[in-house]
Amino acid sequence: MTKQIPIDVKITPENKCDFCTGSWCCTYITHQIDTPRAMSDFDTLLWQVSHENVELYKDDDGWFLMVITPCTHLEKDGRCGIYEQRPQICRDHTNDGCEFDGLCGEDDFDLYFKTHESLDKYCRKRFKKWDIRFKKWAKEKAD
Ligand code: SF4
Ligand code: SF4
Repeated sequence: MTKQIPIDVKITPENKCDFCTGSWCCTYITHQIDTPRAMSDFDTLLWQVSHENVELYKDDDGWFLMVITPCTHLEKDGRCGIYEQRPQICRDHTNDGCEFDGLCGEDDFDLYFKTHESLDKYCRKRFKKWDIRFKKWAKEKAD
């Protein structure tokens, strides 16, 4: 979401945030995770991505969980309520190529999973015996 940008105003890094009422950069968190390799790793990720507002992606830096949830310090006018005390990660964030220029989509990541369905589909391609764990668990229960 952006404020109406006057026709004679050029967007620069200095004024960009003033026109960004959505403050998208303050509406999610990311958390890097170990690279998933085993079926059990992906099984856990399936559980996580099954929750509302939890997504998963992989880019050049590795695998990340993304939780879409606005920061509690984000004020109605899009400003930071604790600006002087904001965490270092907020201070390091640059508005160069940020969400103001377009929200992230599949093209921005090597892999991007927004739902259980999309990750399950990937797992079925990656692991030929993807469903074998269900049989194993059923057998363990029966024994
Ligand atoms: S860094 Fe980008 S997304 Fe964040 S407030 Fe500024 S313009 Fe908006
Ligand atoms: S602390 Fe401030 S800058 Fe950091 S995410 Fe929250 S609102 Fe944004």
